[in-house]
Amino acid sequence: MEQTFVMIKPDGVQRGLVGEIICRFEKKGFTLKGLKLQSVERAFAEKHYADLSSKPFFNGLVEYIISGPVVAMVWEGKNVVTTGRKIIGATNPSDSAPGTIRGDFAVEIGRNVIHGSDAVESARKEIALWFPEGVAEWQSSLHSVDL
Ligand code: UDP
Ligand code: MG
Repeated sequence: MEQTFVMIKPDGVQRGLVGEIICRFEKKGFTLKGLKLQSVERAFAEKHYADLSSKPFFNGLVEYIISGPVVAMVWEGKNVVTTGRKIIGATNPSDSAPGTIRGDFAVEIGRNVIHGSDAVESARKEIALWFPEGVAEWQSSLHSVDL
């Protein structure tokens, strides 16, 4: 089953949006497989965003990510990478549709609340980076025939 990596950035944690964001992924029907509050070191943030290291905003982005704890999560479900990006909304909150997380809760591209993997392959890499201990293996028992 497909998995994606989602991170609530420091501004999302500090603004009290953790519950709201988890709620949106849960209500959609995706399954929570990993969850932790974590402060990351500069080198770790640089590794996570390595693909963007030549961008002019890279240093500011790294400063932002290490400015406070983040909530790292793994969500699972059919097409969760693409659908997760739709739930999150466009990178620049000026372009994010209302109803998306960034569309509803952000104004600045440099404070856009949340990260989500952009492809199945990057999700695999990001999950390995953030959850080297592995994630939970569980399935809902709500539909068990043996109740
Ligand atoms: N970012 C920024 N300025 C820019 C473009 C991106 O500060 O002009 C930040 C923003 O926080 C964004 C992150 O860098 O979420 C990663 O950029 P990417 O293009 O991967 O966007 P995302 O995948 O997060 O939508
Ligand atoms: Mg990205």
